[in-house]
Amino acid sequence: MLDVRIANDLKTVEGDVTVRFTPNRPTSRLVFRLWPNGPLQRREGSQLVVGDATAGGKTLPAARPDPTTLVLHATLGAGQTITVHLPWKLTVPLEARDRISRFTSGIRLGSFFPVLAWDPRRGWVTDPPARILSESSTTPTADFDVHVEAPHGMQAIVSGTQVAPGRWHAHAVRDVGVAAARFAVVTAIAHAPRPVTVRVAVARSASVRGPAALRMATSALRRLSRLYGPYRWATYTVVVPPDLHSAGIEYPTLTFIGASPILRLIVDHETAHQWFYSLVGNDQARDPWLDEALATWGEVQLGAGLPGSIASEPAADFRHVGASMSYWNTHELGYFHDVYGGGVVALASLGPAVKVNCALRRYAARNAYRIAQPGDLLEALERIIPGAERRLRRFGIHR
Ligand SMILES: [Zn+2]
Repeated sequence: MLDVRIANDLKTVEGDVTVRFTPNRPTSRLVFRLWPNGPLQRREGSQLVVGDATAGGKTLPAARPDPTTLVLHATLGAGQTITVHLPWKLTVPLEARDRISRFTSGIRLGSFFPVLAWDPRRGWVTDPPARILSESSTTPTADFDVHVEAPHGMQAIVSGTQVAPGRWHAHAVRDVGVAAARFAVVTAIAHAPRPVTVRVAVARSASVRGPAALRMATSALRRLSRLYGPYRWATYTVVVPPDLHSAGIEYPTLTFIGASPILRLIVDHETAHQWFYSLVGNDQARDPWLDEALATWGEVQLGAGLPGSIASEPAADFRHVGASMSYWNTHELGYFHDVYGGGVVALASLGPAVKVNCALRRYAARNAYRIAQPGDLLEALERIIPGAERRLRRFGIHR
């Protein structure tokens, strides 16, 4: 359960999150991540403050080892369920570059509430936050009931399916994105291959033609589903705020797209994230390439091609594709070059795209709703392209 109450002046958002959690192994704590308190976002003016966490009417002892981590002490056996209630309050900066921002008459919110950082294979994920514009979040999939109170005259747009005024349900998602503004909304059905309601919501102050963006989103969803398996949810929403420029940010069933001349590339890339990040999760701090290289590969399959400068570079130029965000924090200039461009060069070096796509389809099917690790992708590639793992080592890709 996620309650979101957006103040009329858009400067603050208050809410509550209620999490029902059943660990598959014993644990003595619960770890929530408070991403708006990461160094980049704090500098922009974001702040997420939490109140007392309670379970069964009792306050849980809490610790804050660092600004992005909340540890609650509670002893749980494997298979034992706890329901935790946690109130929070968010400060929203004006025209920020990162995931939380308010703009002329609207707001966009991503990674904005306390999220449970549990990986059923590894336990609690306590990666440090990235120091450059990127993601660090790792979360399991869950069912979300979301209630959003938007300021008068504004429309809320939320991950999942609207079930009543102000209420949404999102099934098997690892996060929820929210926007509120005065939007022009257009919808269509995409066959991906099951019918999916695609919505494009363009903020009134953004200069994008909704119907054109809708055609791009519908086509990307349909074509990617042919390559990587069915799109698993009933809705897909593209939000175009006025302040994202040439960037995009992916959330499950909802992406934020910058009003940009390269709109189609951004739509293709963020839509590919619905398979690589949203369906097949990964530790975005430890293995950022696992979703970014594959989303860029998916984007290239839809016809974009790589920028000429990257396509013509020798493979030896891309030696850190598999590096973690702690490496990229101090090598910022290489991040897009290696992780996005180099990831595609590395996959292309394995042979015909049809084989790589076949392996990626297998990877998506076998790791759906899970948090994948590099070994899972290498296993799928090896199965279709024997020797793939060895050949990818020179790109810095390994288990
Ligand atoms: Zn991406």
